[in-house]
Amino acid sequence: MSDAYTLLRGGRVCDPTWIADGIAGGMSDGGLRDLYLKDGRIVAPPPEGARIGEVIDLDGRIVMAGAIDIHSHIGGGKVNLARLLLPEEHREHGSGPDGLRRSGSGLFTPSSFVTGYRYAEMGYTAAFEPAMLPSNARHTHLELADVPIIDKGCYAVLGNDDFLLERLAAGATQSEVNDYVAWILHATQAVGVKVVNPGGISAFKFNQRRLELDEAHPHYGITPRRILTTLATALSDLGVPHPLHVHCNNLGIPGNESVTRDTIAALDGRPAHLTHLQFHSYGTEGDRRFSSAAAEIAEAVNRSPNISVDVGQIIFGQTVTASADIMSQFRNSGLASPRKWVCSDIECDGGCGLVPFRYRDKAFVNALQWAIGLELFLLIDDPWRVYLTTDHPNGGPFTSYPHLIRLLMDRSFRNEQLARINPDVAAHSRLGSIDREYTLEEIAVMTRAGPARVLGLRDRGHLRPGAVADVVVYDDLPDREAMFAAPALVFKKGRLVARNGRLTATGWGDTIVVRPEFDSAIERRLKPWFEDHQTVRLGNFRIADGEILDHGRGGLSIVPTLTASYSCF
Ligand SMILES: [Zn+2]
Ligand SMILES: [Zn+2]
Repeated sequence: MSDAYTLLRGGRVCDPTWIADGIAGGMSDGGLRDLYLKDGRIVAPPPEGARIGEVIDLDGRIVMAGAIDIHSHIGGGKVNLARLLLPEEHREHGSGPDGLRRSGSGLFTPSSFVTGYRYAEMGYTAAFEPAMLPSNARHTHLELADVPIIDKGCYAVLGNDDFLLERLAAGATQSEVNDYVAWILHATQAVGVKVVNPGGISAFKFNQRRLELDEAHPHYGITPRRILTTLATALSDLGVPHPLHVHCNNLGIPGNESVTRDTIAALDGRPAHLTHLQFHSYGTEGDRRFSSAAAEIAEAVNRSPNISVDVGQIIFGQTVTASADIMSQFRNSGLASPRKWVCSDIECDGGCGLVPFRYRDKAFVNALQWAIGLELFLLIDDPWRVYLTTDHPNGGPFTSYPHLIRLLMDRSFRNEQLARINPDVAAHSRLGSIDREYTLEEIAVMTRAGPARVLGLRDRGHLRPGAVADVVVYDDLPDREAMFAAPALVFKKGRLVARNGRLTATGWGDTIVVRPEFDSAIERRLKPWFEDHQTVRLGNFRIADGEILDHGRGGLSIVPTLTASYSCF
């Protein structure tokens, strides 16, 4: 603790929540504002005569809160398997002269350390691992403990686990499901729940190749609709701020837009977050039976204020797809490039599938996928409900975000890119006719304030007094890609960690978790389940706080559950 303040003097503060809170300023009045930091937090201007330890002149540069990635595969079993599957990626993108430094290498499967460094250099101060299988939770947290600087959190994957499916088939009550979901959140130190292809990963193991929303599971007899609505209800009953994180059925299949729209309808006003929406917005029109349904999906999202989404934009080039959705990964395995892939089951919790892939700008399907993602960004009206992701590494590496921001902010740049790709795409997409250009404030919403709000992070994603002092200072460059790739200054918890896009210091961020109340009587059912079916006992499965805290690498930050008195900013 120090008694001195740090003053960031004369910045153009780009924080939409300032205006919403009635604090004068924001970008709109063009005025210069001062920010005071103390003990890792943003604080109100100090009283006259307070000791100012350091003054940093921002000279009118743009100031935003640290950016938050709501969906990025950065830890856990499949990320590690991807590294093992593609050793050449670490040779090619090595950082040392021999190109073989595995602890500091990789582009789409970066090492844990490179993950933290690259995010911080781009002004990102938190990222969320969206697919932590509960049985893999310990591994995931151990790996994330090696990701420096940024805060991180995990969504536990449920909805294909035999315990839940069996209990639903046996007629479990909603309150039993609620207790189970809460127990999993505690035991795995998670901040949310993701459902992946509800019921489909399990159905795949019974030789099913797709599963529609109202199609009964071949063994358990329950439908994806039931799994989806029960889990969404559980999270809202428990007051978990981040609503159910949904990876819809039939990922990547032409015509899947109907199941995506049916999923939104099935949620019937319940809050939910639909992830990597680009992969779920495909129609079947045209000679190739593959078309953009972005307009229809965007319209459904625009009409549904309970729904937030992230896009999962694809970026041309080599990457690896990594998903718990082994039904879809098995289907895509023939497209593996290079030709090697992995599909496995993990403790009957869910799947783990890896298929290396190269998105080619001259291939019609890939080029149209690129256009569909951009159409979604540009046709969904409210930046508070659509967030910037590539579903790293599925659509491309997170390091391509600055390029993606330029595509959203600069129409002529976007149209230049559109003119370079497979020429049929321009004819099959409305992208070229969309005029919209995102403003800096909208970028600040979709990369900071929006994800913070939907995750329930009250002290992140904004620059109001009380916030964690995650602050990013940008030069206002006309080339938005250059601007967002190399911020002038990045502070994490008030400490300068990067300057002009280069790391200057390292450290450890927090693990963000949620802990809703529940009835521990659920353990009477779970204990025998663990004894009979799992490789570890219930007592050993649970991750103690000490396992995260004892190595001294950052703290635990607990997101408050929603109560009647809580209101969003
Ligand atoms: Zn997914
Ligand atoms: Zn994902």
